[in-house]
Order: sequence, then structure tokens, then C-alpha cells
Amino acid sequence: MPDFDYDLFVIGGGSGGVRAARVAASLGRRVAIAEEYRFGGTCVIRGCVPKKLLVYASQFHEHFEDAAGFGWTVGESTFSWEKLIAAKDQEIARLEGLYRKGLQNAKAEIFETRAELTGPHSVLLKATGRTVTAERIIIAVGGAPSVHGALPGYEHTISSNEAFDLKQLPKSILIEGGGYIAVEFANIFHGMGVKTTLIYRGKEILSRFDQDMRGGLHLAMEAKGITILCEDVIQNVALNADGTRTASTKQGKTLTVSQVFLALGRSPSTKGLGLEAAGVAVDQKGAIIVDEYSRTNVPGIFALGDVTDRVQLTPVAIHEAMCFIETEYRNNPTSPDLDTIATAVFSQPEIGTVGLSEEQAAKKFEEIEIYRAEFRPMKATLSGRNERMIMKLIVNAADRKVVGAHILGHDAGEMAQLLGITLKAGCTKDDFDRTMAVHPTAAEELVTMYSPTYRVRNGERV
Ligand code: NDP
Repeated sequence: MPDFDYDLFVIGGGSGGVRAARVAASLGRRVAIAEEYRFGGTCVIRGCVPKKLLVYASQFHEHFEDAAGFGWTVGESTFSWEKLIAAKDQEIARLEGLYRKGLQNAKAEIFETRAELTGPHSVLLKATGRTVTAERIIIAVGGAPSVHGALPGYEHTISSNEAFDLKQLPKSILIEGGGYIAVEFANIFHGMGVKTTLIYRGKEILSRFDQDMRGGLHLAMEAKGITILCEDVIQNVALNADGTRTASTKQGKTLTVSQVFLALGRSPSTKGLGLEAAGVAVDQKGAIIVDEYSRTNVPGIFALGDVTDRVQLTPVAIHEAMCFIETEYRNNPTSPDLDTIATAVFSQPEIGTVGLSEEQAAKKFEEIEIYRAEFRPMKATLSGRNERMIMKLIVNAADRKVVGAHILGHDAGEMAQLLGITLKAGCTKDDFDRTMAVHPTAAEELVTMYSPTYRVRNGERV
């Protein structure tokens, strides 16, 4: 057997790469990991974690307003974007430190450099020009905001990468896209007092979600004061002398705003990675093609996380890393289970969801039962805030299994995590019915919707 410098070399220090490197090293393997930017990857540095901190920050003005209904008088409040970003940066630096420490404690060697494949077992460390060899290589370089080079004035737009580090809070913003990032940031900026417009090419935002969640969130966002333009796209962006941008849209609208933010999906970061040199196959989007064990077409080279474009979620990348460890180092072949993944959109109100939407379930099953509750959350009674919560269970009539659960409202993400367990376990509606309610909560609606609101038979609502 050839003598390699390492048992495992990981390219990319994000959620998936760090997990694989740390656990492999803790099992006694000789591991190295290279990262060209910062350890923690998109999730920690410019994704999930800072986003959630910004979400919290953006909610305070509503908390202050709501307080009055509960007898509080809150003095005049002001908001400092600069202070928030400094605090966020400090927390991100702390988390990055923990990622590094975990790797160091496990005795993985860290290279702060871009690394590129030069062959099936060799990697070039760009910073030093040194080439190292490894028995196995994992590519876990993630993705980046999709580039919309065809848009005239693209250079005057920002993506989520820049949004986290803007020097100033914009006065107004136009966000294009109808997915997770566009919707979440529209609520974040609006909550911080930014005049916010969302523009989306489709009929309704969040195309992959249940229709009640999409419609309910759209109404709630508009009621807060966010402008949503559907069935329209930006056609041109011009930079004005005062630093503002003027965007013109296909439907003939002209908007002058402080920033234009594109959130049009994320693409795998595979360019210039040396994949051709090693013979690693990619698909049309540039995503690395892998089998059910995250193996590429080249023996010894694996890929996991967003670079494979399976499901672009942090927990999925971590799970894929753990499956790699089980398969390659624990003699226990394990392939990632990507079925029924619970997820949340941290919009305001939040969406928490797991399983099939009504539309998907109606196509899959002959008859489904829909249990739906829409109500004013208890806190809104005294706060006077005009908000609604929607809960929805979708049940396959044939075997009573709950195949979808969708929530719009406070803490929907937290609830989705627990509902995820019930759907994964194959719970039936009868299991929900015989579960005692926790009172008074919003979640108790999930176990007290006794009769179907309506049924869908052969695709028709009855
Ligand atoms: P999404 O795939 O969620 O949404 C992309 C949006 O851009 C869609 O609305 C899509 O429209 C639209 N779009 C794509 N191309 C164009 C185009 N050329 N012109 C106009 N509109 C276009 O991607 P995001 O960028 O929002 O997020 C990337 C990924 O990151 C998500 O898929 C998600 O997996 C992950 N993420 C997860 C979060 C969470 O778990 N809370 C938070 C943030 C990100 P259409 O719907 O019509 O295709």
C-alpha cells in the first residue's frame, strides 16, 4: 500500500468538513484539514448563526410595542446596527475558535490555505505551494450565493455574504428571491426599520412550502409593512451619484433604494478546485456527483455538504459526515437518511415544517385528511397585535399516518423539531389524539384537532 502523508485530508472547514476531520482524528487517524477563509463555514460565519442573531435583534421593536398591553411603559428606544454587528462578530469569532479548538484537541492538522486537488490522492496547499498526499480526500467546500451575471448592474447588488457586514444599516432595500434567504432577510431588515420590498418571479413566495404557510406568511409580512411584488423580476440596476441604486423591473416598476440584495439560491463552489485533474465528475450545476455513501466517481475521493447539492442544510452536511465516518472508519456502511427533514424559515412569523405539503400529499395519496387551525395566539390578546397562527396536519386516510405538519407562528421552528420525531417514527393521527395537551400553549392545537377540516380525494377537495 502506498505511503500517504495523511489517512484523511479534508478540503473545507465548514460544518461537514470539520465534523468529518474532528471525528476521524479522534479515532486516531492522521487527519489534515484546509480552509481558505474562516473555520465554521457558511453556517457559522455568514449563514444560520449570524442570521438567527439578526432575527432576534429585529424582533425587539415589536416586543417593546407589545409590552404596553401588559402594563409596561418602555422609554424611547434606539437601535445601533454598528453595535449589533460588533456583538455578532464577537460571537462568531468565539464560535470559530471552538471549531478550531475541537480540531486541535482531536489532533487534526490545520492548514489555513486554499487547497486544490492535483490527483486522486494529492492536494496542493496554495499558500505554500506544497503538495501533500492522503489515502482519502473529502471535498466539503460548500457553496456560494448564485451569481446573476446576466443582470445589467449586477455589480451594484449584494448577496447574503455582504448583508452580514454592511457598514451601515440601509434606509431602504429591495430583495429579490422568494426562498429562505430572501424571506428571512426581508423580515430582518423590516424589523430594524428599513423600508423593505421583496420581489419574486413566481405567483407566491416560498415555492416549495405548503400553500397555507405561503399565503399566511405573505399576508402577515404585508400587514407589517413589507411590500411584496410577485410575478416580477429585476431587469436592471443602476448606481446613482448619491450611492443609492435604481432598479427597474420587468413589469415596468422603478424603485430607488439604498441596497439591492439578490437571494437567488446557492451554487456549489467547485470552480478551480482541481476536480478535472483528479477526474471527479460534476453535474450541470457544478455539484459533485456522489453515491449513497458520499463517494465520488474517483476511488478515495468523497464529497459532502452543499458542494454535492443534495439538501443544502447544515444538519444534513453534519449527518453526511457522520455517515462517512461510520462507513469508512467504523466498518458500518451507513448512507445518509434524507427523508422527512424538518426545517424552519426564520421569517416573522416563523414557519416550521416537516413532511409533505398538502399539494404533495394530494398527489401521492388517494385520500388525505387536513386538520387545520387558525387562531390568534394568546399573547396577542393583550398586546393587541393583529397576528394569526396557523397549524396544519396532513393525514393519509388509508393508514392514518401523519405525513405532513406545518406551523406558521411563534416558535414554529422549535415545534418542527419535535414534530419531526413523530413523523419519522411514523405516528398516526390516533397517536396525536391520545396525547394529552400541554395547557395553555399554542402547540396544544396539534393534539386537539379531532375532526378533519376537509378532505382531499383524488386531488379534489371534498
Ligand atoms: P432558495 O432555493 O430557497 O430560493 C431561491 C429563490 O430564488 C427562489 O424563490 C427562486 O425562485 C428564486 N430564483 C432562482 N433563480 C432566479 C432567477 N434567475 N431570477 C429570479 N428568481 C430566481 O435559495 P436561498 O438563496 O434563499 O437559500 C439557499 C439555500 O440555503 C436554501 O435552499 C436552503 O437550503 C438554505 N438555507 C436554509 C435556511 C434555513 O434552514 N432556515 C436559511 C437560509 C438558507 P423559484 O422558487 O421560482 O425557483
